[in-house]
Amino acid sequence: MTSKKRVLIKVSGASIKAKNPNSIFNFDIVKKLCSQIKQLNAKYNIGIVVGGGNIWRGKMDSEHCLKRADADYIGMLSTIANSFVFKDILESLGVKVSLFSALPVGFLTKPITSENIEKSFSKNQVCLFAGGTGHPYFTTDTGCAIRAIDMQADMILMGKDLVDGVFTADPLKNKNAKFIANTTFFDVYKRKLQVMDLSALTLCEENNIDIYVFNILGNNSIVKVLQKKCKFTHIHK
Ligand code: UDP
Repeated sequence: MTSKKRVLIKVSGASIKAKNPNSIFNFDIVKKLCSQIKQLNAKYNIGIVVGGGNIWRGKMDSEHCLKRADADYIGMLSTIANSFVFKDILESLGVKVSLFSALPVGFLTKPITSENIEKSFSKNQVCLFAGGTGHPYFTTDTGCAIRAIDMQADMILMGKDLVDGVFTADPLKNKNAKFIANTTFFDVYKRKLQVMDLSALTLCEENNIDIYVFNILGNNSIVKVLQKKCKFTHIHK
């Protein structure tokens, strides 16, 4: 195993959603995120989990007479589509990438095994984890927690697109909501703070993986959160 710190970055689909309704991706944002990842790859072993919410959300979209499980498979396929966009843009910047998927799509992606992950990191490749958990009824937050365990991540950088971290209430709806810079898993459960799915939180707590919640759309914010030079919420045991 290399001695670099291991970081898993969660990119929600919403943060790469195009403003133009005729397009799915905001490529400018993806390029900005990828150039930060290129910079960080020299110092860290990086895993990335991209959501699919810019394309499809199973729970919402299954309302149109779709079976919930099928709607969720479409959601997982959306995360694969998004991961391909990240792969190609990273590669265009000269970054080597291994694309894994929890949902097998033949020769297009690699199966997620610890051997494959170690091999990728030893070649200085960024690991892109697509397909969420591979199971319907979950979200990519839980996928993210599982992949963090798979890659023995030291931390998860949980990117948000509308807020700078965790608040006492939804700051978009409640102007009295207070920012929380530092908190524990226990406090998140007790105060029902909105961070990520409970299943994902529990996995992180049990496996001692700290979470940093930050605004991924801030200027150079992935780099800055690792340097502790931007606003973020640190969740720990
Ligand atoms: N999904 C799923 N199982 C998983 C991960 C994702 O069924 O393990 C489906 C689910 O329908 C979800 C969609 O994929 O709504 C997109 O993922 P998510 O909503 O987590 O994306 P994000 O909000 O992070 O963009």
